[in-house]
Amino acid sequence: MVIDTRVCQKYAPCEDCIHACHHLHNVPQIPYKKHEVKWIWKDEFEHAFPDTAHEYANEVLHGREFLLLCNHCEHPPCVRVCPTQATFKREDGIVMMDMHRCIGCRFCMAACPYGSRSFNWRDPRPFIKNPNPRYPTRMKGVVEKCTFCTERLAEGKLPACAEACKHGAIVVGDLADPNSEINKILREHFTLRRKVHLGTGPSVFYII
Ligand code: SF4
Ligand code: SF4
Ligand code: SF4
Repeated sequence: MVIDTRVCQKYAPCEDCIHACHHLHNVPQIPYKKHEVKWIWKDEFEHAFPDTAHEYANEVLHGREFLLLCNHCEHPPCVRVCPTQATFKREDGIVMMDMHRCIGCRFCMAACPYGSRSFNWRDPRPFIKNPNPRYPTRMKGVVEKCTFCTERLAEGKLPACAEACKHGAIVVGDLADPNSEINKILREHFTLRRKVHLGTGPSVFYII
């Protein structure tokens, strides 16, 4: 995935992508920060790229909000530590969750350096305002995160966040295909990834 943060900035405070994802996947809107569940969210440059940010950085980066989600890492530490294989890496590179297998040990949350995973500290169902009957809900005691919309990819559709963005800020594609649109974009733009020094190999790229 490539996210053109210049476009997000231009249309701020647009959050169409977040609303689309969270509605589609029955992500609860829990009003208590410590119990928050999120698959995709925004945060400041300093938090998104703490190893890159410094006080002399270009001022346009300060105050710009960056769209964050699971990076579907090439070497995902969350997968390595999961004792039940509730989280696993598919052949296509997507780091998937099987919520039925999750025992709620939260090892994966400790291992993920991006805060991409949320734990259901309480029954999430009362906090889903307008449930989507076509997608399952979760229960207290399991971890959840972005699944890269595998259910939509299987039908030949784009991830919901990419489709919801009317301004084309989110592009997804096959990194293994040198002729793909996403590879063309990556060749033509300077991009950042989050915390690359950790060796996780994030698959989400940011045009800044
Ligand atoms: S961002 Fe976190 S949850 Fe997603 S694959 Fe990487 S380590 Fe796992
Ligand atoms: S909380 Fe669930 S997904 Fe995470 S490591 Fe434990 S069993 Fe695996
Ligand atoms: S890829 Fe799908 S699951 Fe992941 S943040 Fe976008 S809409 Fe949500």
